[in-house]
Amino acid sequence: MTPRQHVEQLLSFIDASPSPYHVVATIETWLACWQFEKLSETETWTLHANGRYYVVRDDSSIIVFVTGSQTVAESGYKIIGAHTDSPGLRLKANASDSNHGLLRLGVDIYGSPILATFADRDLSLAGRIHYKTDTDKLNTRLLHLSEALLRLPNLAIHLNRNVNEEVLKLHKHSELPLILAAADEQLPQTYWYQLLAEAAKIKPEQILTVDLSIYDTQKGGFWGAQQQFYTNSQLDNLASCHAALSALLCEENLTPQHTLVCALFDHEEVGSESHKGAAGSFLADILERIATQTTANRTDYQRALAQSFMISADMAHAYQPNFPSAYDNQHKAFVNQGVVIKSNANQRYSSDGVSMAMFIDWCQQANVPYQFYSHRNDLPCGSTIGPVISAKLGIRSVDVGCPLWAMHSIRESAGVLDHHYMVKVLSQFFNA
Ligand SMILES: [Zn+2]
Repeated sequence: MTPRQHVEQLLSFIDASPSPYHVVATIETWLACWQFEKLSETETWTLHANGRYYVVRDDSSIIVFVTGSQTVAESGYKIIGAHTDSPGLRLKANASDSNHGLLRLGVDIYGSPILATFADRDLSLAGRIHYKTDTDKLNTRLLHLSEALLRLPNLAIHLNRNVNEEVLKLHKHSELPLILAAADEQLPQTYWYQLLAEAAKIKPEQILTVDLSIYDTQKGGFWGAQQQFYTNSQLDNLASCHAALSALLCEENLTPQHTLVCALFDHEEVGSESHKGAAGSFLADILERIATQTTANRTDYQRALAQSFMISADMAHAYQPNFPSAYDNQHKAFVNQGVVIKSNANQRYSSDGVSMAMFIDWCQQANVPYQFYSHRNDLPCGSTIGPVISAKLGIRSVDVGCPLWAMHSIRESAGVLDHHYMVKVLSQFFNA
């Protein structure tokens, strides 16, 4: 595929996936085309060499793997980790508030979004709802409302005279409720549940709870004089999820010697501490089950971990020349100039000299340019799932990513070539 085709496929993937639950559902559709078998954690498994499998935990974390022709005790696992969630706004349980002639929905802040970027966008809702069926059973269903339903209008400059001098600040509690409708009286929660119920083809009173994200209805696209840049929401980190799966889902990587794993987790943006997050048991549980299918004892599993490697793929901060003082002068990552290797002496990233050298070797074999990124010492550095998993499983790991402008904006941008480079080097890692 050409670089442009890779990104076109990425943008379609994101547009079909407005919540972490939809991310996993879209991936499952993709895996079905490649004849992957879905496994349930509640059942016993029978795995075969060069078999294609995946496991979903609670709708929004997924582990995809292809078993090697060698046992994991012989050659370990090759893992690419990324995350399915993005920072933003999530609906509160009692979201509905009708006052002042308007029905507004209250939101929680999920992770660290740039809140000002949510103002004046065509927003809507996606996620899952939990309800009682006509026969009184609990059920869950995905919901994706496609029209623009919600909005956070800015305050006019005449009422906020210093907005350009002091940047746009939104109070995290009182200034974030989103406008849904005109309402001239106090309305019960079920009033706005009608909207969800119509979309789900059930009755409003059947709805018990919801897990709904706010998303931007504007689709992704290309920009720039030669269309060498692209933009969408959720590039952090769906671009890395897409690159990891693209590297796995090609003919040459589906009959591997090593066992290849793509581990994609929810809850990275809030610290990964959950039953399906990277700090939970999900990856360890699945890796151990793969090992016990092919080897007899726990020592063999530990031998497998000891010779495994993980690439933690997450987006990196691209240099923006309008803000030169935000960057370490010697560690600028330029858009369309290669994949970024991230390091931090305090282990906010999992890379060390050895793992970075190994990654550079794969870049060189794949003819992919690379760049180094290090955060300024006087700014707190972000982190990834890399250190979390590396510590938990004792696996050597490197943190890498594509350069990205406006990380955690509702509209992020990156370079077409870099996504292509990332797919190539991840494919080389699986193939080496
Ligand atoms: Zn990220």
